Amino acid sequence: MIEFQNVTKQYGDGTKAVDCLDMEIKRGEFIVLVGPSGCGKTTTLKMINRLIEPTKGSVLINGREAEKYDIHRLRWDIGYVLQQIALFPHMTVEENIMVVPEMKQMDKMVMKRRAHELMEQVGLPPAVFAQRKPSELSGGQQQRIGVIRALAADPEILLMDEPFSALDPVAREKLQDDLLRLKRSFNKTTVFVTHDMNEALKLADRICVMRDGSIVQTGTPDELRRNPSGAFVRDFIGRGESRLCEVLDLRQSVSSVPAGTPPPQASLPAKVRTDQLLRIMADHETAGVEDGGEMIGLITRASAFRLLAESGKVADRDE
Ligand code: ADP
Repeated sequence: MIEFQNVTKQYGDGTKAVDCLDMEIKRGEFIVLVGPSGCGKTTTLKMINRLIEPTKGSVLINGREAEKYDIHRLRWDIGYVLQQIALFPHMTVEENIMVVPEMKQMDKMVMKRRAHELMEQVGLPPAVFAQRKPSELSGGQQQRIGVIRALAADPEILLMDEPFSALDPVAREKLQDDLLRLKRSFNKTTVFVTHDMNEALKLADRICVMRDGSIVQTGTPDELRRNPSGAFVRDFIGRGESRLCEVLDLRQSVSSVPAGTPPPQASLPAKVRTDQLLRIMADHETAGVEDGGEMIGLITRASAFRLLAESGKVADRDE
């Protein structure tokens, strides 16, 4: 269906964003390209709908080189969803969804029915939302419309570039669930880009881990979990999966023990795993913190929560 044959993309300034990439994506498959920022995911994706042309090698779609297709037809036949959906602000939601189907001169009644069905499927009832303008929607709702707009013209291929990254965690999870549902009913060949391994593990039929413009490993979520090809993949999966196994340092968060305080009912090591910290702080308002066999202070539930929130922020910034 989509095939990369020895594809290299080198930008004008000499940056080799993609390096001799070989990859085959089967019809109906949901593949997730995952890897750290700058590893070449977006460049790879954009070579499918020819927003970027390869420097070397070929991208084949249904056995034919992408460059041989009429570029407008190709783009109409490939749905594309970006991180910041740009809905047309002066058009209603319904009109926005029907832009591409209209260009493809699909039947008006069919288009409308399909637009409304899709809206129902992502929990935006057309009776309420069809006539709204994009400015009357939340970020998550706009992104939902972006996803179904890409599906409205019934494209064979769907490309999604970090489509949920700008959303808060709750909206993000809801859209992921929507997408899983849509995926089951539509079975489109989908290429999804993310730097978030959790998202990849949740959504993908097959994950392709990239680093420095090359593929490090390709496999199903289960294969990657069970058999990571090396430290890079293992760490990347670890980052996605075991936030709860992360070790936190409590030493900066302890308060001193006021004289005469009875010994705490629970204690924790100064270097503690997140899950242990949560378990103890769920049951106790305060706990003692021990370092090298000595009690160095107390940690309160509030300061433990603050520490957890801060450690999340640091990890996100690292990604
Ligand atoms: P990712 O999507 O994994 O974050 P990209 O494909 O966007 O990675 O970028 C891969 C590499 O190519 C990065 O080093 C990036 O800085 C570089 N790059 C992307 N676009 C351009 C460009 N237009 N000109 C020069 N370098 C670019």
